[in-house]
Amino acid sequence: MQADFHIHTTASDGCFTPLQILEQAVIAGLTNIAITDHDTIDGCLSMQAYVPANLNVISGIEINTNHLQTEVHILGYGFDLGNVTLKCQLRELAQRRLLRVKRIIEKITALGYNINMKDVLAVASSASVVGRPHVAQALIVKGYFANVSSVFETLLAHGRPGYEPYHKLTPQDAISLIRNSGGLAILAHPGLIGNDDLVREIIPLGLDGLEVYYPQHTETMVNNYCDLAKQYNLLVTGGSDFHGFPERYPQRLGQFICPSIVASKFLSVLQSA
Ligand code: AMP
Ligand code: ZN
Ligand code: FE
Ligand code: FE
Repeated sequence: MQADFHIHTTASDGCFTPLQILEQAVIAGLTNIAITDHDTIDGCLSMQAYVPANLNVISGIEINTNHLQTEVHILGYGFDLGNVTLKCQLRELAQRRLLRVKRIIEKITALGYNINMKDVLAVASSASVVGRPHVAQALIVKGYFANVSSVFETLLAHGRPGYEPYHKLTPQDAISLIRNSGGLAILAHPGLIGNDDLVREIIPLGLDGLEVYYPQHTETMVNNYCDLAKQYNLLVTGGSDFHGFPERYPQRLGQFICPSIVASKFLSVLQSA
């Protein structure tokens, strides 16, 4: 089994369309994937009719939430893509994101950058949700920066002058939304949260598992989160968080995969859920 359960597409801030991802997954020899776009399932929906017979695609999403001041990402898998409550909630989140990008543009325009909503929507043309990476791309197109990382470092990261918060769901709300739609809720890249006390606080909110295998997790983190998963009787998953950004590993789909035994266990639980 060659599995990757964390992939972004142009439906959020990835560089490749859902159909390009299907094509690349087959070429890379992947057998099981999940598209986990930020706050949208439109990528999952648009590829449904095109999934080749030798590829298993499960429904997926990555919901950006706030736990007090900390950003926490909750992955959802195997939920009903037609769930009405889920769709309504996601529409609301997309609206909040759009208003936030408008505020970001106001801030950076005041700093002297000549950029407007049309510029951002031009690079986010296939996206159902807009985000900071689209603002970054628009600034690159205009020649202000060479790459996405430098835009974040200068303007968009937390604490930088173009940073704008927006009202996100809580981890509890995201977990309930996923589970009430028939899916499993997994804590994305716990190592990136950088606070295991907080991870332990989120687990009892109804989490089904932890994304233990992740490109930026060190061996120590992997061992630590495997132990934590065992201790709390949680599932373990893994994924690449592939966006197709040239400067961010993995540059190719299939370069980082979930260990086969972990993927099999996860899928068997998902199928019996
Ligand atoms: P948003 O959802 O609009 O808040 O944007 C968050 C996304 O921006 C993340 O999922 C990453 O893909 C990307 N991102 C966050 N920080 C950085 C960074 N320092 N450099 C490049 N991309 C980043
Ligand atoms: Zn992203
Ligand atoms: Fe994430
Ligand atoms: Fe992600």
